[in-house]
Amino acid sequence: MDFELSDELKLLQDTARRFTNEELIPHELEVDEHSRISEAARTTIRERACRDGLWPMNVPQEFGGLGSSVLAQVIVQEQAGRATNHLWGYVGGPYNALQRCNEAQRKKYLEPALTGEWTASYAVTEPGAGSDTSNLTTSAVKRGDHYVINGEKWFVSGGEKGLAVIVHTLTAPGEETLFLVDHGTPGMRIKRLPRFMNRSEDEHAEIVFEDCAVPEGQMLGERGEADAISKAWFREERLHIAARSLGAAQRLMEEMKAWCAERETFGKKLYEHQGIGWLLADSATELYAARLVTYKTAWEEDAGVCDVKELHTKASIAKLYASEMAHRVADRAVQAFGGRGYCCDYAVERLFRDTRVDRIWEGTSEMMRSIILNGVMKRDLDELLS
Ligand SMILES: Cc1cc2nc3c(=O)[nH]c(=O)nc-3n(C[C@H](O)[C@H](O)[C@H](O)COP(=O)(O)OP(=O)(O)OC[C@H]3O[C@@H](n4cnc5c(N)ncnc54)[C@H](O)[C@@H]3O)c2cc1C
Repeated sequence: MDFELSDELKLLQDTARRFTNEELIPHELEVDEHSRISEAARTTIRERACRDGLWPMNVPQEFGGLGSSVLAQVIVQEQAGRATNHLWGYVGGPYNALQRCNEAQRKKYLEPALTGEWTASYAVTEPGAGSDTSNLTTSAVKRGDHYVINGEKWFVSGGEKGLAVIVHTLTAPGEETLFLVDHGTPGMRIKRLPRFMNRSEDEHAEIVFEDCAVPEGQMLGERGEADAISKAWFREERLHIAARSLGAAQRLMEEMKAWCAERETFGKKLYEHQGIGWLLADSATELYAARLVTYKTAWEEDAGVCDVKELHTKASIAKLYASEMAHRVADRAVQAFGGRGYCCDYAVERLFRDTRVDRIWEGTSEMMRSIILNGVMKRDLDELLS
């Protein structure tokens, strides 16, 4: 067993840490207040991410990406996750579904996504179908050389902007198919931009499709391939969420440690009061365990030592444990900071809000438990858990 990161990965980790400290963290309060930063700042961040080799890591070189290992992606996501207000979005994605673009679609959608000119949004969830995707009703019916889409999608992150939305539809009962629907297509409209707990640069749009006709050429992948493509995306993103949770917990611990060493009450440092000191001890224990689970899962994917279903289970274990761990650490940090912990000026307050959604999106903690249980019942435990 060798748990040491290679020199190359250590360098990447250091590069990603500096990028996060110098380019993302300085914009946190601006995003928290205004939900946006200037176009010039966006360009600077994007350009540096590309220059530093931090974007686009999850796209194979044959498609114009960096084709980085999964462990390298995890290491970068972890560092970016130290920034609040979901500023990690600058090195998140782009959606691996875009690799399914055909020759004609590549120029319009994939190439500008690789330079960060636009970020695709992915619309699966509906008012009546979140965890239970068997309830999806958005239909795409073939009429001549077009498909006519009807339905409503909810919580579509970034769905209000960019070139297009990747829409998960039913082309026949039980047959799920993706379409790239350009903004401005007649019949597609943003119904509402609800407000959410944290502030980021993304809205999470409700989008309605009413007799929205898209040419057949807008199909992403093959007919009936949506489930497989979406699952591949979920697997990747769940591991990235786990990695960002590690970064969030690391930052929370750094903030908590510094504060507990500085602040005195009743003639003692805060950490010398056992009730507060143990918040740090418990957080360190859980962060260490979550990091091992996440790194090992990434390593296993790179090494090709487990099949795709086992990876699905393990990505769920990593997401469940790391996201719940990060929110527990955030809760402890808010407590250790006292009144300051409830004030938006402090990173611990912002991370408390930010980390909450990681237990919900890309599959809730309960859905992660269902997937893990399925793996437990179907597989040999020695094999699965060693
Ligand atoms: C900020 C934000 C951004 C999002 N971005 C996107 C996006 O870009 N694209 C997209 O498609 N979706 C997006 N989502 C949607 C997200 O993936 C769903 O909210 C999530 O999958 C849960 O679905 P739901 O909200 O319908 O809850 P429900 O499925 O109604 O579940 C409600 C609660 O019941 C629990 N539950 C449900 N069934 C079971 C069961 N069988 N056993 C035990 N517990 C159960 C759930 O875990 C949850 O706690 C986003 C959500 C948020 C909050």
